Amino acid sequence: MRDPKALETRVFDVLVVGGGAMGAGVARDAALRGLSVAVVEQDDFAEGTTSRSTRLIHGGLRYLAQREFGLVRENLREREILLRTAPHLVRPLPVYVPLYRPSVRERARMRAGMLLYDLLSRRKSLPRRSWVPRERLLALEPGIAADGLRGAWRFYDAQCALVERLVVENVVDAKRSGAIALNHAKAIRWLREGDAVVGAEVRDELSGRSIRVRASATVNATGAWLDLTNRGIRRETRPALRLTKGVHLVTPPATRHAFLHFHTDGRPIFVLPWLGSSLVGTTDTDFDGDPSDARASEADVRYLVGAAAGIFAGAPLADVAYAYAGVRALVNLGGVKADEVPREHEIRDHGETDGVAGIVSIVGGKLTAYRGIAQEAVDVVAKRLGNRARCVTKTRPLPGAGASQDLREEGLELGLAADQVDRLLSVYGSMTRDLLARIEGEPSLRLRVAPGSAATRVEVVHAIESEDAATLPDVLLRRTCLGLARDRALPLARAVAELGGFHGDEVDAYCAAVNAQQPIAVSVPA
Ligand SMILES: Cc1cc2nc3c(=O)[nH]c(=O)nc-3n(C[C@H](O)[C@H](O)[C@H](O)COP(=O)(O)OP(=O)(O)OC[C@H]3O[C@@H](n4cnc5c(N)ncnc54)[C@H](O)[C@@H]3O)c2cc1C
Repeated sequence: MRDPKALETRVFDVLVVGGGAMGAGVARDAALRGLSVAVVEQDDFAEGTTSRSTRLIHGGLRYLAQREFGLVRENLREREILLRTAPHLVRPLPVYVPLYRPSVRERARMRAGMLLYDLLSRRKSLPRRSWVPRERLLALEPGIAADGLRGAWRFYDAQCALVERLVVENVVDAKRSGAIALNHAKAIRWLREGDAVVGAEVRDELSGRSIRVRASATVNATGAWLDLTNRGIRRETRPALRLTKGVHLVTPPATRHAFLHFHTDGRPIFVLPWLGSSLVGTTDTDFDGDPSDARASEADVRYLVGAAAGIFAGAPLADVAYAYAGVRALVNLGGVKADEVPREHEIRDHGETDGVAGIVSIVGGKLTAYRGIAQEAVDVVAKRLGNRARCVTKTRPLPGAGASQDLREEGLELGLAADQVDRLLSVYGSMTRDLLARIEGEPSLRLRVAPGSAATRVEVVHAIESEDAATLPDVLLRRTCLGLARDRALPLARAVAELGGFHGDEVDAYCAAVNAQQPIAVSVPA
């Protein structure tokens, strides 16, 4: 359960501001090195850019064209680490890149790109690239446009369908190592002592109370919000970030396989199988303002539907269930197009760059590389604090990555139906053990959330009591992830609200959150 008072009890070694992939990764790494840690997130964990991403754990094939070989190699190395340490969340994904009437040059370029992608991921566990000739591709994916199709390259990357759970599991592991984590807690002002930052004033957004969180070191992991949160810290007036907006559409299943298609304007468009739907993305346009205000425009939706329909004409791409928009935080270089900005990151020690000691910022960085970037940031902070413990996140499994063979049987013995147990295992991995233990103590928690749903009541209680869910959207969107489905879990919202003890107006708030991502307004059935 959230415990705002715990933030006031001591001077922490490290305060982490921002609870996306980076902030959660920093909190976990620092706590595992024995540092005392507090992490605050203005909304909910993972609610920022992390949950608005394509959810690929990938090297980034297209960055090869931009000659970002170091970035691709680093991402591929991190992909391997996540496949090992979070196999319940990060799964191999074969991706097809179809070629239409390719010129000799294009064919050579793709062949070289595929070869290089394999070479840059030495010692990888995933299969190598292969060429799929036209007829085989048409048999595999009958809906793909046949005119001019020569075949496709198939390569492997990985998908983290429930990236929200990846972040939550980082927070859970950080807390198990003693960290204090508070969502719905916004850092509104840095606490200063002379030239140094010594923590932050944090506003608990649920009670309105202000809390002074003191720390020897602060890590600013606010991603796309960095220029807003770093006001008064940096000497330079030019923004540290270039912000670009990216939109995704969630549609009924449009393909059987994952596709990366280069649209006529040269932009890469993914059409990915995702939670029984298709995820289509993304756009890349300059963005100005508060990242919380990013929305998919009609033009974004039209562009993506058109781009994907270019090769999947018969697919139900126009039946968009919902769209979501996120803001990329890219290192500001200036003078390049939005989709050509390098995806490299920087760890900025403001003591060195701006004469403000005690605070380090993470600038840019891909979700795929969050663990390695967190390690770099904690290395800087640990050195300052004289902590010599080694980073263990390269090999330490996330909490849900343990053995789970016996759990299915245990769940069935406790009276759960097979579809309920399968859902628990697919969402919580071996953390299912914790949920089953709750059912043992309170057998009514084994019941379904609502008739016909595979979700189990225990999930709601677990989300609130063990994973700090404080609002209905927290439970539905970022703990149980039920609300990521095309129906946004609207048929379950009232039942979940009742189980979680949320008021009726929370159901309205959930509807509002969902409507903000909907091309058309929706309401919860009475
Ligand atoms: C459209 C799109 C697609 C992408 N696809 C991929 C992909 O497939 N693979 C990949 O590797 N990367 C992808 N990325 C990049 C990836 O999503 C980001 O690099 C990553 O999620 C950044 O994580 P973060 O923790 O830095 O940012 P965030 O997840 O945004 O976390 C920062 C957090 O800080 C919080 N915050 C802000 N201000 C305050 C404050 N004052 N007090 C407290 N908290 C605050 C915010 O609420 C936010 O939750 C994509 C990005 C976009 C936009």
